[in-house]
Order: sequence, then C-alpha cells, then structure tokens
Amino acid sequence: MGHDPIAFIDLAAQQKVLQPEIDQAIKTVLEHGQYIMGPEVHMLEEKLAQYCGAHHAISCANGTDALVLSLKALNIGPGDAVFVPAFTFIATAEAVVNAGATPVFVDVDENTFNMSVTSLHNAIESIAKTKLKPRCIIPVDLFGQPADYDAINKIASEFDLYVLADGAQSFGASIGDKKVGQLAPITTTSFFPAKPLGCYGDGGAIFTNDEVLANKLRSLRVHGKGLHKYDNVSVGFNSRLDTIQAAILLVKLKAFPKEIAERQSIAKIYSSALAEKFEVPNSLAEYQSAWAQYTLKTDQRAGLIERAKAAGIPLQVYYPIALHQQKGYDAYPIAPSGCGVAQKLSQCVVSLPMHPYLSSVDQERVIAFLSH
Ligand SMILES: *Cc1c(COP(=O)(O)O)cnc(C)c1O
Repeated sequence: MGHDPIAFIDLAAQQKVLQPEIDQAIKTVLEHGQYIMGPEVHMLEEKLAQYCGAHHAISCANGTDALVLSLKALNIGPGDAVFVPAFTFIATAEAVVNAGATPVFVDVDENTFNMSVTSLHNAIESIAKTKLKPRCIIPVDLFGQPADYDAINKIASEFDLYVLADGAQSFGASIGDKKVGQLAPITTTSFFPAKPLGCYGDGGAIFTNDEVLANKLRSLRVHGKGLHKYDNVSVGFNSRLDTIQAAILLVKLKAFPKEIAERQSIAKIYSSALAEKFEVPNSLAEYQSAWAQYTLKTDQRAGLIERAKAAGIPLQVYYPIALHQQKGYDAYPIAPSGCGVAQKLSQCVVSLPMHPYLSSVDQERVIAFLSH
C-alpha cells in the first residue's frame, strides 16, 4: 500500500514532544552531579505517591527488584508459597524464586486475562496440605487492567496472606476512585521504557501506606543500611533508581495523565470498530485500564501476524508461553485443576499497536486491516 510501517510503541514521538524539558532535566543533573540518590529521586517519589494516592513511594532499580525487595521486606523466603498467575511476564515468578520462596501457578480468567479467584482459592487450599506455607499472593494487572482486588484481598484475609500487587503494566490505572498503588497493601511498578510510564533505562517503584515497611524498603535498596551508609542492619541490595532516570520521569509524569486518557480513547475506538469481528478486551464497570497493551483473541494468529507485517502493521504476542510451561519453571506447583486457560491464551492472544501518540490515520489503518 506504500505506507511506512507503524510503530508498535512509538517512544520517539513522545520524545519529540518532551525533548526540550528532558534535555533541561538531564542538564540539571549533570550540573549538580548527584548521580546517586540526588534531589530528583526524592522529588519523584513525592510526586509518584501524590499521583496514585499512596502514603509512600520507594523508587528502585527496576520492576523485578521492586518485587524481590517487597518479598524480602515481608520476610518471605524458603519454605513459603507465593501464588502467581500462570499468564504474565516471567519476572513475577522469577522474583519469587530469587527471594528463596516457591511460586505456585494459578490459572487466569478467560475474559480479563487476570488471576482466577476460583483457581487461587483451590491452589491455597491444596498447598496448605503440603510442607509449604502459603504466605503471599501476587496478582498481576495484566496489560494494564487491575486484577480483582476486592475478591483477592478477601481471600488473603481469610487465609492470612499478604497481597503484593505487580502493577508493572498498570501504573495510572484505577478501580473506581482508587488508583493502582492503593488497591493492595503493597504495589510494585516498572519504568522499563515500554511500560505506560517509562524512563530511558531501567527503573521501578514500590507503593505502600505502611511506614514500617516503607522504611525497611528504603534500607534494603541501599545495602540494608541503618543509621548511615556504613551501618548495615540487614543483608540488602544495590537497587537504587539513577538520578538521571528520576529527572526524566519527573518530566514524563507531567504528561502522563493526558497520555493515559489518550490510551483510553484509542482503546475505545479500537473496541467499537473491532467488536463485531473479534473478541475485544473485556472492560469491567468501574475499572480503568492503563492500556499497556490492547489485546485480542484469534484462532488464526500466525497468518494474521504475517499479513499484518506485510501491510506495515506490527502485531505482538504477549505471551507465547505460559509460565508453568517454561523450562526453568515447570517443576513448581500449579493449581489443582491446572492452568488450562493460561495455556489456551498463550496460543490465541495478539496485541495491537498502542501508545498515546498513535495518530488517527494509523488507528484507521490498523482498524481497516483487521476489518477486512
Ligand atoms: C515488566 C514487568 C516486570 C518487570 O519489570 P522490569 O522493570 O523489567 O524489571 C514485572 N512484572 C510484569 C508483569 C511486567 O510486565
């Protein structure tokens, strides 16, 4: 058709808009020279907490570390079972293993792609009969849509478990008037460049209202520091967010509310145009997704992706292999009735180009291609 290919996520388009402010922000860091834990890091933490309504925001090196640090702060380790969905990015389970605990794979809901409450309940009951001790649930807000926190928090209190929300894809999303960051006692997020709020490298953060936990996390991310740098009260990590990344995020955070609104409006346009031909993402009343991905289901995926590519339209598969079927993870326990939905989804999901700077012309191109 003589068209240039569309970008799946167009970071260059965003950079073009924010360039002067980002240049200035980086320049300021180079001038003051406080590359580690500089003033921008603390400013960012304040703004992030304000934005999502959590009392504390603790920045760290990436979204995977955010999960490991949280598990460590909760004293979860060897002998402990942590319930994770079988359909997510590998980091959710990887963090559990690296904290010394055992991930237990729970199936997901066919419509929301998020943790199935029934499967979770059954998995907890079955693990409770083993040597492992159920300690924590990590719901993932897949593709930006919050998990069913009402039900999950209830199950957690029934079995006396922690809820650690993996909000790596959902910063900016909400249920009713509560944003991600307030939906669970602890929430993590990622600032990997392609996430809804991304920096220009790796970055992450943890949100909580619990001051004791927040202080523990602040210590753990800097080598388990006590009163000062050379007083070490626990075995910690080197997991700080670079000052330059914090400075970039401060600029991007200002544009973020408008960007989330753009994503929501593009998702609406996609859904109303494609609902007849495809099973479009399920949108629950009261739920506002951050639309990290816009994901359809199709039983003719391989052919569709190939034809789309020829038409300059990139389609991506998140995720092609469910976690319980990954080589490094296939020995860990799974929910009693299996993770069949996760497995099925891994074979039929396909994600469309989605970013706040996707032009109407490109949206139309994607829709026209998928509609004929
Ligand atoms: C991206 C992602 C992570 C990890 O974040 P990093 O910053 O890349 O370490 C964890 N969980 C989920 C669901 C993710 O999508």
